[in-house]
Amino acid sequence: MEKKPFVTRQQIEEIAKTYPTPFYLYDERGIRENARAVGEAFSWNQGFKEYFAVKATPNPFILKLLQEMECGTDCSSKTELLLSKACGFSGHEIMFSSNDTPAEEFTLAEELGAIINLDDFTHIEYVEKTLGKIPETICCRFNPGGLFKISNAIMDNPGDAKYGMTEEQILEAYKILHKKGAKRFGLHAFLASNTVTNEYYPILAKVLFELAVKIKKEAGVSLSFINLSGGIGVPYRPDEEPNDIRAIGAGVQKVYEEVLTPAGLGNVSIFTELGRFMLAPYGVLVTRAIHEKHTYKEYIGVDACAVNLMRPAMYGAYHHITVLGKENAPCDHMYDVTGSLCENNDKFAVDRMLPEISKGDYLILHDAGAHGFAMGYNYNGKLKSAELLLREDGSVKLIRRAETPADYFATFDFCDILKDVR
Ligand SMILES: *Cc1c(COP(=O)(O)O)cnc(C)c1O
Repeated sequence: MEKKPFVTRQQIEEIAKTYPTPFYLYDERGIRENARAVGEAFSWNQGFKEYFAVKATPNPFILKLLQEMECGTDCSSKTELLLSKACGFSGHEIMFSSNDTPAEEFTLAEELGAIINLDDFTHIEYVEKTLGKIPETICCRFNPGGLFKISNAIMDNPGDAKYGMTEEQILEAYKILHKKGAKRFGLHAFLASNTVTNEYYPILAKVLFELAVKIKKEAGVSLSFINLSGGIGVPYRPDEEPNDIRAIGAGVQKVYEEVLTPAGLGNVSIFTELGRFMLAPYGVLVTRAIHEKHTYKEYIGVDACAVNLMRPAMYGAYHHITVLGKENAPCDHMYDVTGSLCENNDKFAVDRMLPEISKGDYLILHDAGAHGFAMGYNYNGKLKSAELLLREDGSVKLIRRAETPADYFATFDFCDILKDVR
């Protein structure tokens, strides 16, 4: 799929007069249209709800936008729970899918009325001790082990993943939870990440639906909801075929009607916890070329670095780059596009064919709207950028200011020698 930025050079030049680069820019229209499409793809299921994975883009303005689109939140930590609360999410609008969970986080989740997803069999006892009871609504996370394959391709390796319970454990878990007074039960699994195939959800659904039938037979528990979690990917590379959310929704419906409905489980609600699919394509990192360097390779130095977008440095992830204003120029120059960290892996692209770049050009790093800003850190004393929202009416709203040195030093607020640092 051709990668077209949702902004032009003129728009960015205008925005940069107020907000210097680097910055993140999110596309309200794209976010809304996509969220609507997700809702429509699953509209065959009465209780369907998307719980946006907060960790992907933990910004209150983005969460409010998704709330307007009827999404809930999926949290994995105390701060994500607090953020959800502050945005007005409550009760079963919040999923708490965490692992290795501290007691105080279970307590906060329970206070907010969130749906607690148990990552492990031993968490039954841990939660009961922590809360003094088992919540009426409870979810269990499943891990089938082995390799997760689609056709013959290995998608991921659940057997090597720290998450979830074995089948034996989960069947026992439902029996115990039932005995201890739980009334509504859910099942959850996340088996593969960034899948760019319409088959992932339907195949995962089949595994979970068949397990739901077994849970009914062997544990005497009829599930209320099944959470397919995250994992639907986006085409980071232009030669990848995007997922078709309608085909995915229809694929899940088919398996639902084949497996759940005949087993008397036709009332099960389908939940999702998508992060990447909801936001990645609708956020870009905008940066400016500030240096060019000719040594053993050709380098373009930009004003963003891995602190702003860590995925390339961390996983060698590909993020497509558009040089604004040169969309139609031939890609006849090979560059490494680098940030300024004292780490040689601080490269947004290696040996990338791009149009000839001049100092001052604006570069768009595509598909950074999820797991982008959120993974940021402060190595080398580098500061995190602003986040901006391009509204549907074309105006731009600041949704997070850029960090200042004072933010960097804020945790030394007890320390006299830094009191005057700004
Ligand atoms: C990270 C995560 C998600 C979101 O994953 P995406 O790949 O962004 O869709 C959903 N649920 C859980 C429990 C997660 O850890």
